[in-house]
Amino acid sequence: MKLATFRQDREVRLGIVWDAKIIDFNAALRLLRKKVSCRGKSFPVADMKSFLTLGGRGIKMARQVETWVKKQAEGKSQSALGGFIFDLSKVKLLPPLSNPPKIICLARNYVSHVREVIGDASLPQDLLIFMKPATAIIGPGDSITVPHECRELDHEIELALVIGQKGRYIPKEKAMDHVAGYTILNDISDREYVGKKDPGRMINWFFMKAPDAFAPLGPYLVLKDEIKDPHGLRLRLWVNGELRQDSLGEEMIFKIPEIIARTSQFITLEPGDILSTGTPTGTSFSTKQYLKAGDVIDCEIEGIGRLRNIVKVEKPMYRKQ
Ligand code: MG
Repeated sequence: MKLATFRQDREVRLGIVWDAKIIDFNAALRLLRKKVSCRGKSFPVADMKSFLTLGGRGIKMARQVETWVKKQAEGKSQSALGGFIFDLSKVKLLPPLSNPPKIICLARNYVSHVREVIGDASLPQDLLIFMKPATAIIGPGDSITVPHECRELDHEIELALVIGQKGRYIPKEKAMDHVAGYTILNDISDREYVGKKDPGRMINWFFMKAPDAFAPLGPYLVLKDEIKDPHGLRLRLWVNGELRQDSLGEEMIFKIPEIIARTSQFITLEPGDILSTGTPTGTSFSTKQYLKAGDVIDCEIEGIGRLRNIVKVEKPMYRKQ
């Protein structure tokens, strides 16, 4: 099942993607209230994080909604379906998840990317982790608006997993029980801050990775049962139609169970947390083809979808929001 967050009629809605259509989860659920147990303060479900917090109960309900809507739709026109089903192409997709408790990102987790960044040095012996704030998230079609004339703006397609079950000190063999599903994260980076401005060659992670719009996310959250082997997925990224990154997830140095086990030794993983698993070779760091205003970036991971964003440069201007 593919889940999404979308805007329709000025309302932000939680959706279930059904081929070229999208089902409004809460609107359909309201019509089902007498048939399934969905009373209480959890309903309507406020957003994707709230949905994930419901755990298996939420997913079971989503499946009931999907089955019921498909049955209702048989032989009926869309207008007869009471405003809970829409054409996917006509709604505005938002980031599937906009308020994760944490965005945890792995650096240097693909052999080919380690080689392009630090040459033939030995591979990392432990996870190299940084974090991004939720304000970095943008959705499908949104502009990657950079705060100034970034001269070394870079792209990194990554498979991001989303946590569904809270846990601490999670053993590797239990790790997949804590995964809700997968999405795409484009780990936008400003390479000017990779130690070149500091005499001690320290990497300035915050300026490089954390700015607003540096985490395009989406288009969907695909539940884990649809992805049999997350490490076997093909990741591709194009800039203005030119293929720049094309690798398989099997190249990951630390695989998903190890990432979850090691991370949870230090921090409690919670529903909605995003763990981004690193990027393969082909970044601008090696090609020196840095991103510029107007560039169109397409990220695609098989089984998940395609995420498109366009780079936009803005002049710094005070805004009270
Ligand atoms: Mg990255």
